[in-house]
Amino acid sequence: MDSRIPGFYELSPEQRLAEVAERRGLSAEQREALAGGGDRDVADRLSENVVGTLSLPVSVATNFAVDGEDYLVPMATEESSVVAAAAHGAKLARETGGFAASVTGPTMIGQVAVRDVADPRAAVARVLERREEVRATANDQGVLVSHGGGCEEVSARVVDTPRGEMVVVHLLVDVRDAMGANAVNTMVEAVAPVVEDATGGDAVVRILSNLADRRLARARCTVPPEALAREDGDRTGVEVRDRMVDAWALAAGDPYRAATHNKGVCNGMDALAAATGNDWRAIEAGAHAYAARDGYGPLSTYEVDDDGNLSCSIEVPVQVGTVGGATGGHPTASAAMAVLSVDSADEFAAVFAAVGLAENLASVRAIADEGIQAGHMKLHARNVASEAGAPEDLVDEVAARMVAEDDVRAGRARELVAELTE
Ligand code: NAD
Repeated sequence: MDSRIPGFYELSPEQRLAEVAERRGLSAEQREALAGGGDRDVADRLSENVVGTLSLPVSVATNFAVDGEDYLVPMATEESSVVAAAAHGAKLARETGGFAASVTGPTMIGQVAVRDVADPRAAVARVLERREEVRATANDQGVLVSHGGGCEEVSARVVDTPRGEMVVVHLLVDVRDAMGANAVNTMVEAVAPVVEDATGGDAVVRILSNLADRRLARARCTVPPEALAREDGDRTGVEVRDRMVDAWALAAGDPYRAATHNKGVCNGMDALAAATGNDWRAIEAGAHAYAARDGYGPLSTYEVDDDGNLSCSIEVPVQVGTVGGATGGHPTASAAMAVLSVDSADEFAAVFAAVGLAENLASVRAIADEGIQAGHMKLHARNVASEAGAPEDLVDEVAARMVAEDDVRAGRARELVAELTE
């Protein structure tokens, strides 16, 4: 098989699919499955070398209240339990008024890094002497200023790298309601010649930083211990509360736990980003880089307040837009934005932080009490049944039986399918 296909990008999605299908000898079913059920013209505009679409479940998480406002949260994810956990976490918070949130404002950082500078410390000073010129050059690019944003600050420092010292200049850019990557990248590329002139060096890197620590969102909520106990559980709410604080403490002490703790936060935020056409890789990069700023640790914290309630909080960079990117280019993303109904990127970021915390709250509660598998397996059983070949009309029954038997495995699913179809 030859992977060189000249002019592949110029073909239509159907022609590309035919080409790939022929080279790999795909069956008609495989070909149809790759084409997918989505709009290939929209897909072709969004990405490159498109042959089809992959549809993800789009769900709506209920119960969210943030700063006194109710939200229905659209979430796109293939992982069972994510949406249920978000809605459950939001319900726990709702009983005491929901989430309180605050944001720093939509400031993104763009970097210009210059190497081969003879006198890097003096070069930093020279760049800062010309900061007004750098700022004006960035704002001349015609993006953001007309929307009330633009480059607000210029900073510079010397960074020691394995290839010697570099002068790294940061543009702090108010991106208003955009995620801002393209806008900031345009600006850093435009200012690079000025920075080269001021430093006498060579600008090797000109791009946005996803460590968006000037664009933070915070959310907090309080949960009384009674709400944490399960009706049929054998632990009291106070016991579950204390075990949750222990689970958080472990994340604060052990990066192996912190990685998964933060993965839980991202489960919720990524699903909201995917549903709304936002860049979940940027969310991920920002979240984990921020979590590593003083040695890798958890993005959220769990404490006990003076009244004995569980006090939950999160601080995380949220780099998302209500305009730009794919938010307007994908009809499902636009409709998802209509469901969420936020007026600005700041309001959007506050909901993101609340979703990350709700998701994490529900999973830390389960981990600290009955364990994550009980609920997860209940939801996952349908996938196992389906993958094991259960016909559509038997999926629910096979799943229910496996859950009742506490034996959710592909092997058991196959046995049950055989039994039920005898
Ligand atoms: P974009 O290029 O669509 O820019 C936003 C545009 O929206 C601006 O040009 C602005 O003029 C316009 N706009 C209209 N109303 C606005 C308002 N109220 N506030 C702000 N702008 C307004 O998108 P972007 O947000 O600059 O970039 C996001 C895209 O960049 C995403 O698709 C992302 O995947 C991609 N990207 C990300 C990275 C990264 O994260 N490292 C790198 C490159 C590209």
